[in-house]
Amino acid sequence: DKLPDEKPEDPSSVRHAQLEWRDNGQPVSSAFDDIYFSTASGLEETRHVFLAQNHLPERWAALTENAVFSIGETGFGTGLNFLAAWQLWKRTAPTSAHLHFVSVEKYPLHPKDLARALAMWPELEAFSAQLIANYPGYLAHGVHRINFPGNVHLTLVIGEASAGFKSLALEDPQRDRQIDAWFLDGFAPSKNPDMWSEALFRAIATLSAPAATFATFTCAGIVKRGLKSVGFVLEKVPGFGRKREMLRGRFAPEQEDKEIQEGAEEQHYSSTPWHLPPAPVQKPNAIAIIGAGIAGAAAAQALAARGFQVTVFEEGALAGSGASGNDQGILYAKLSPKPGPNGDFNLQALQFAQRFYPNRCPQAAHFDGLLQLAQSDKERQLQQQICQHLKLDAHSPLARPVTAEEATELAGVTVGFPGLYFPKAGWLQPRQVCNSLLQHDNIHLQFSTRVRKAQYQNDQWQLHVQGQEKPQCFDALILCTANFNRQFPQTAPLPLQPIRGQVSFAKATRTTEKLKIALCGKGYIAPASSALDTQKAPQHSFGATFKLKQTETDIREEEHRENLQTLGTLLPEFEKEFAGPPLEGRAALRAATLDYLPMAGPVAQWDALESTYSALRKNRKQRIARRTPYQHNLYVLAGLGSRGFTYAPLAAEVLAAWINNEVMPVSEDLVKALHPMRFAIRALGKNKPI
Ligand code: SAM
Repeated sequence: DKLPDEKPEDPSSVRHAQLEWRDNGQPVSSAFDDIYFSTASGLEETRHVFLAQNHLPERWAALTENAVFSIGETGFGTGLNFLAAWQLWKRTAPTSAHLHFVSVEKYPLHPKDLARALAMWPELEAFSAQLIANYPGYLAHGVHRINFPGNVHLTLVIGEASAGFKSLALEDPQRDRQIDAWFLDGFAPSKNPDMWSEALFRAIATLSAPAATFATFTCAGIVKRGLKSVGFVLEKVPGFGRKREMLRGRFAPEQEDKEIQEGAEEQHYSSTPWHLPPAPVQKPNAIAIIGAGIAGAAAAQALAARGFQVTVFEEGALAGSGASGNDQGILYAKLSPKPGPNGDFNLQALQFAQRFYPNRCPQAAHFDGLLQLAQSDKERQLQQQICQHLKLDAHSPLARPVTAEEATELAGVTVGFPGLYFPKAGWLQPRQVCNSLLQHDNIHLQFSTRVRKAQYQNDQWQLHVQGQEKPQCFDALILCTANFNRQFPQTAPLPLQPIRGQVSFAKATRTTEKLKIALCGKGYIAPASSALDTQKAPQHSFGATFKLKQTETDIREEEHRENLQTLGTLLPEFEKEFAGPPLEGRAALRAATLDYLPMAGPVAQWDALESTYSALRKNRKQRIARRTPYQHNLYVLAGLGSRGFTYAPLAAEVLAAWINNEVMPVSEDLVKALHPMRFAIRALGKNKPI
C-alpha cells in the first residue's frame, strides 16, 4: 500500500526515494525497510559481489581499442555500484574503450540525498563529484543519458525495472543484445518481490549479449528460478562478509536466436519493423559527414569520440555557414503539458544539452538562466498546465514559475510578464560552438568543398567533389545538409520544409546592457555580447522572423521592423532604444520537419520500402512482420528547425548509437519518433505518395 501504482508514461508521477539516515551516514529505504549497501563496507561488497564475480578486472584488461562494454543494473540507488565500476574501469580498460552503464531506478534519490549518501565514500570523491554535478535536476520517467569524461556513459532509466529495460529494446536481436554483465541489485526479494518478476527476467534475457555474465547478492529461489528459466547457468559462490553465499553465472540459452529464422518473424515482431536497418556486420571506419552546421558538428564529435575517422565536407568557408551561423542563439525547449514524444524529447534534449555545452565548449555557452515569458492568457494557461504536468514549483531545478516582479529581478531590466525561469539554460555563440565541436584528432575538415554527387559503389560511398577528378571514398555517409538534403537523390524524398528567419543586431545602450539573461516570448533577445569579435561594440541579437517556405536569404528592412515590433511587446523600452540607427542582421533558412521533431537515423531503400509495406496503403494498422532493405550505411541528422542547438547533441547521440551499435540514449518510442523513415510510413498509412 505504501507504493501505489503509477502511470509509467506520466513524468510527474516519479517519486523520490524516502530515506531514513543511520548515525554512520548510511541511508535506509523507509518504504522497503531495506539498506542500499552493506553496513560493513558497501564499497568492498560492491567490489566483491558485482565487479569480481562478473570478472570485470580481467575482462576489461583484455579489451581492444575502441571496444564497447555494457553493464546492466537493477536499482541505481545511490550510484555506488556505478562509481565503483567507473573507478575500476579507469584503472583497467584501454583509454579508447567505452563503458555503457545502463541502470533502471523506480524511486530515484533526490539530488540532495544522493550527495549526502555519497559523502560516505571519500575514496570515490573524484567520481561522485561528477555524478552529483551531472545528476538530472528533473528526473522524468524515461531514459536519461549522461556522458562522463573517459568514455563513460550512464543511461539512467527511471521507471519500473522490467518496463525500463523493455523500453530500450528495438526488437532486433543483433541490436538488443548489448549487456555484457549484469549487476542484479535491488532490495532483497523478500522485501521487494514485485521487482523480481518474470517480465524482468525476460527483459534481461532480451538485452543479454551472447556471453553475458551476472552477479547478485541474493540466493533467493525466485531469483534462481527466474534466471534459469530464461537461459542463465548459475553458480553459488561465497558472499561478502557474513553472507554465506551469493549467485553468479552466465547466459547460455539453449536456442540461439541471434538471427530470426525465416518464417519465425511473424512471432518475433510485435509491430511492423520498418525502423530496423541491418545491424552492422563490420563497423564503418571512415565516415563522411556533409554539412558543418550544428547537426554536422554534433554528429562529428559524437563519432570522433567513439574512435571513428570522420571527414566533414562543407560548401561554405566556415563552420555554421547556414542557420547555425548567428552570433547568438538561445537554448530553448518547448515543454509540453501532456505526455508524448515531442514533450519527452524536448525535456530530455534540453537536459542533455544543458550538460553537453558547458562540458564541451564552456567559453561559448552562457547558461546563466533563461526566461520564457507568458505574453498572453493562452500562454499563461499553457505554462500553468506544464507546471502541473511536470510538477514544477518554486524549488524545481529544471524550471520554475516566476511572477513579473521576480522576472524583472532575474533579468536586470523591467519585465511586464510572468513566466518560466530555466536556471541552467541560456544563450550560446553558435559559430564558436560548431568550431570547437569540430576540433578533434579524428575529425578532418574540408571547407569550401562542394560535394556534387554521392554514389554507393564497390561497397563504398564515393563522394564526387567539385573541382576534383577522383572521388573520395568512405564506409558510411551522414547527410547533415538541412534543406540541401534534397540535392541528393538518396535522401530527396525526406520531407523538410525551409523556414526563413532573419535576426536583427543592435548596439547595446546604457539601458539595454543591463539585461543579464536571455529572454524569450513571442520573440527572443540575448544579453549584449562582443565576444566573437572584440573590435565590435557589444550588441544584442533579437528576432527572429519565421517565414514558412521562403528560400531567399537577403536582409529585409520590413523584417527588421517586424523584429523590433515583436521585441517591443516584450521590452517596450528596448524597442525605443533600438529604433534610431539602421539595424544590421542576418537571414538564413531553418529546415523543419512536419512534426517538428528532428530526423536522426538510417535511410531505407525507397522503392523497397514502398513494396515491402504497400499493404499499409489499404490498412494502416496492419502489422507486417518483415524488414525492409536499407541503403548501405546511409544516415541523416536534419530537421532541427528553430531548436537546433537544443536538439542536436542528443540527436547526435542517437545517430552514434545506430552506427556504433550501442544501447540507445532514448526509449524505443523516441527512436521511432526521430526516425527519418517515419514520414514514409505515415504516408503509406494515409495512402499518399512517399
Ligand atoms: N545499486 C545501488 C547502489 O549502488 O547504491 C543500490 C540499490 S538498492 C539496494 C535497490 C534499488 O532498487 C533502490 O534504489 C530501489 O529504489 C530500486 N528499486 C526497487 N524496486 C524497483 C523496481 N521495481 N524497479 C526499479 N527499481 C527498483
